[in-house]
Amino acid sequence: MDCIFCKIAKKDIPAAVVLENDNLIAIKDINPQAPAHILIMPKKHYATLLDCKDKGLIGDMLLMANQVAEKLKVYEKGFRVVINTNQDGGQTVFHLHMHLLAGRPLSGMMG
Ligand code: AMP
Ligand code: ZN
Repeated sequence: MDCIFCKIAKKDIPAAVVLENDNLIAIKDINPQAPAHILIMPKKHYATLLDCKDKGLIGDMLLMANQVAEKLKVYEKGFRVVINTNQDGGQTVFHLHMHLLAGRPLSGMMG
């Protein structure tokens, strides 16, 4: 399947990896919307949040967001996590991923 995030998860194309475990990878967004803009995604392909029924995996994505926030030292000031889903959600890459945004005050939905 021709999916850019599958290729990143398999290390077929490079990315700036922030954290990784057996099931998830967190990378720096190539077009950051905040000083810290990280994408947390499963290594397994799910096109959207709607396609993933794995409660454990979805929970682990949020727990990895906490770990990323700790690693980047944005834990205390705060951060935002967002999962854009389908057209009206603004999803452009159809491999489930969660944005973590931090490092500046965020206003509105995406700041
Ligand atoms: P979304 O609009 O929620 O689907 O978000 C897709 C995100 O992926 C955007 O913020 C892009 O900047 C980011 N992105 C696209 N290609 C890459 C890449 N090769 N490495 C890192 N981030 C990427
Ligand atoms: Zn994929």
